[in-house]
Amino acid sequence: MAEVLVLVELNPDGQGVRKTTLEALTAARALGEPSAVVAGAPGSAAGAKDALAEYGAQKVYVAESPDIDGYLVAPKAEVLASLVERVSPAAVVIPSSPEGKEVAGRLAIRTRSGILTDAVGLDGDGTATQSIFGGAVVVKSRVRTGTPIVTLRPNSVSPEPAPAQAQTRSVDVALDDAARAATVLERVVEEKGSRPALTDASIVVSGGRGLGSGDNFSLVEALADSLGGAVGASRAATDAGWYPHQAQVGQTGVTVSPQLYVAVGISGAIQHRAGMQTSKTIVAINKDPEAPIFELADFGVVGDLFDVVPQLTDEVAKRKG
Ligand SMILES: Cc1cc2nc3c(=O)[nH]c(=O)nc-3n(C[C@H](O)[C@H](O)[C@H](O)COP(=O)(O)OP(=O)(O)OC[C@H]3O[C@@H](n4cnc5c(N)ncnc54)[C@H](O)[C@@H]3O)c2cc1C
Repeated sequence: MAEVLVLVELNPDGQGVRKTTLEALTAARALGEPSAVVAGAPGSAAGAKDALAEYGAQKVYVAESPDIDGYLVAPKAEVLASLVERVSPAAVVIPSSPEGKEVAGRLAIRTRSGILTDAVGLDGDGTATQSIFGGAVVVKSRVRTGTPIVTLRPNSVSPEPAPAQAQTRSVDVALDDAARAATVLERVVEEKGSRPALTDASIVVSGGRGLGSGDNFSLVEALADSLGGAVGASRAATDAGWYPHQAQVGQTGVTVSPQLYVAVGISGAIQHRAGMQTSKTIVAINKDPEAPIFELADFGVVGDLFDVVPQLTDEVAKRKG
């Protein structure tokens, strides 16, 4: 069976891999035998191998060098380009993060290959599904030139374990001057709170303009904490400065696809829906029965969030004992 290269996204703390990597490994299995590619500073692969083996990597190509970590994204594209030449994979699958998309673009140029970004699914014949115009249109496409390069949108595929051997192969890569054009001077790992990361969380509680102020986001945080979830926000809330922009869910924010999405005081504009409509169960709390979010919701509460949310938080806490 042909190999499919999967670029690994490591956790910033060096412990294990991001969930996006497990999703990419799962999607890659439709096309062939996944081979994970770890490109990073010396020691990067050590904490990743177990997870890669559990999610189906038959091989793990390891390119470790201070140079790879020290020069933005170009070295990662070089590592992948040299592997594409060497192993002629059926495809290269890369998580669709900002960095992943830049690596993919460079790789496509280097290998003269076609690229599809933000795929939400992959079929065995290489057809990628993309969801565009805020989810209003579904596109099916296939690369016809070179090695198909596909970036996979986070949370569009559920990671499924498929234990494999994960045999390690070292990769030496000689970087040219172009790959050393931009140097990383410092990396700052954002302090992690006790809540799960928004894109990885299986429960997300988001607040919108209905909250009326940034202070009232404490209601959303309390509900999220009682459920063990992450906090998101609509663009109206982040633009108002009520919550950080990193928490914005939607077309111009992050895409989430949790098991449970609770929308509090959010109308459900198409641009917001684009970032959460694939959530498994959607609960909406809104005082306007005509709010478009109810068209999408599995469960809706028509009511004032200032009455409903504290009661819901108390009830969850009670049930948890
Ligand atoms: C190019 C572009 C990109 C965009 N990208 C995004 C994006 O990524 N994410 C995003 O979210 N938006 C995005 N938007 C903005 C989007 O169009 C909406 O303006 C925005 O989502 C509205 O946010 P909201 O639902 O919080 O506010 P509103 O639409 O004002 O809705 C507030 C809701 O709160 C309810 N409410 C008010 N008070 C209460 C109460 N006491 N109890 C219960 N309910 C109450 C109201 O009934 C209303 O339904 C984008 C827009 C454009 C043009």
